[in-house]
Amino acid sequence: MQLYNIKDASERVSFRQAVKQGLGRGQGLFFPAALPEFNDIDELLALPLAQRSATILSRLIGDELPAEQLQAMLGRAFNFPAPVVKVAERIHALELFHGPTLAFKDFGGRFMAQCLSAFADGEQITILTATSGDTGAAVAHAFYGMPGINVVVLYPKGKISPLQEKLFCTLGGNIHTLAVEGTFDQCQTMVKQAFDDAELRKAVGLNSANSINISRLLAQICYYFEALAQLDSKARSNLVVSVPSGNFGNLTAGLLAKAMGLPIKRFIAATNSNDTVPRYLKTNVWQPRATVPTLANAMDVSEPNNWPRIEELCQVKGWMLSDICSGMRDDAGTVAALRELHGLGYLCEPHGAIAYDLLKEKLKPGEHGLFLCTAHPAKFKEAVELHLGIELALPAELAAVADKGLLSEVIPVDFAAVRRKLMSLV
Ligand SMILES: *Cc1c(COP(=O)(O)O)cnc(C)c1O
Repeated sequence: MQLYNIKDASERVSFRQAVKQGLGRGQGLFFPAALPEFNDIDELLALPLAQRSATILSRLIGDELPAEQLQAMLGRAFNFPAPVVKVAERIHALELFHGPTLAFKDFGGRFMAQCLSAFADGEQITILTATSGDTGAAVAHAFYGMPGINVVVLYPKGKISPLQEKLFCTLGGNIHTLAVEGTFDQCQTMVKQAFDDAELRKAVGLNSANSINISRLLAQICYYFEALAQLDSKARSNLVVSVPSGNFGNLTAGLLAKAMGLPIKRFIAATNSNDTVPRYLKTNVWQPRATVPTLANAMDVSEPNNWPRIEELCQVKGWMLSDICSGMRDDAGTVAALRELHGLGYLCEPHGAIAYDLLKEKLKPGEHGLFLCTAHPAKFKEAVELHLGIELALPAELAAVADKGLLSEVIPVDFAAVRRKLMSLV
C-alpha cells in the first residue's frame, strides 16, 4: 500500500512506514495513493466480521501483511461485536462500544497495536497521544504491558468524565498519563510540537496513536461494512449514516468505505457546540473558535485533525463537500435527544444522542437512517443519570477501576514539561 503526504505529495511511504511514522513532513497527513473499488459487496457482507475485515484491509494494504497474518491480527483486535439495534421505524443504532474500554476507539486502538507490534523491529517505541476522553483509554489498554512500548497520554484536566479518566489513568506500568491544565486542542498542539522536534522524535522513537494514524482509520472502515451486513436489503439501498464527530476520523473512515463501494447514500456530520465543520460547510469559511466544554466531551474539538483527509477524498472522488450534511446540537438539544431516545426505550449517551437527533432532522421520506453510538452510556454515568433521572449499573470494565487511585501527573500547558517526561522514559 502506497500513501502520500497531503501537504507534499512527493513524500510517499509504505503502509508500514505510515503506521510507524504517524505524520508526514510539515505535519501532513498520509492518504492512500489508490483506493480499490469493490464489485463484490454482497459477498463481502455475507462474511463474518474478522474474515470480512481481513479481506477488505488485505485489498488495501496489499502484500505488506500476508492475508493470514492480517486475519489473525483482526481476530485479536476485533474480539467483540458491533451490533445494530432497531430504535424506531427506519432508524437503527450501530453500537460500537462493546470493546474493553467501552468506546469505538477500541477498534482503531487495538488494530493499531497489532500493526505496531507486527512492524516493530525490536526498537524502543513511545506512543504519544492526546485524548478528549476515549482514545486514551483505548490506546492505553491496547498497548498495556507490551514490551518495548511506552505510552504517554495527554488529556485536558477536569474536562473528561471521571470514569473515562479512571479507565486509563489507573493502569501504571508502561502507561503514563499527563493531566494538562488546558483544553484538548492545546494537548493536540503539544503532540504536534513533539513530532516537529526531530531530536526528540529520534531519541524516544516517537509514534502517535491519534486518529491521524492511518491504521486506526483502516480499522474503522470495517465496522461500516459490519453495519450494512446486519441491515436488510431495503435499508441498505437507501441508507443515511449520522456520525457524531470531533476529530473527524470516524467520518473519514465512513467516507472511505463509501469510496470503496459500500452503498451509503450520504453522511451527516453531527457535532456539539464546537461546530467548526458545520459552519464551514454552510459558509465556506474555516473559522475555529475557542473550544467550549459540552456534555459530549469527546467531541470538544474545534480544530479537527482529520478534516484535510475528507477534503482530499472529495477531491479524489469528484464529490462535492456540500454533499456532506451537517449540523450541531448544544447541550440543551443533546439532553432533549437523550430523553427522547429513553422514551423510545433506547438508553443512549450524549454523543450518540446528537447523531440521532440530527439524523431525525435530516432524514427524508423513504430513507433509512443509522446513527453511530460511540460510547457506552455508563461511560457518561453522571450526565446520563442526572438528565434521565435514572440510576445506571456500572459494567464490569468500569466497576473494576471506579475505586482505584489516579496515577496522573498534572502539568501546565508547557511543551517543555511534556518533552522532559518523554526524555525521562528512555
Ligand atoms: C472520539 C469520540 C468521538 C469523535 O470521533 P472522531 O473520530 O474524533 O470524530 C465521538 N464520540 C465518542 C464517544 C468518542 O470517544
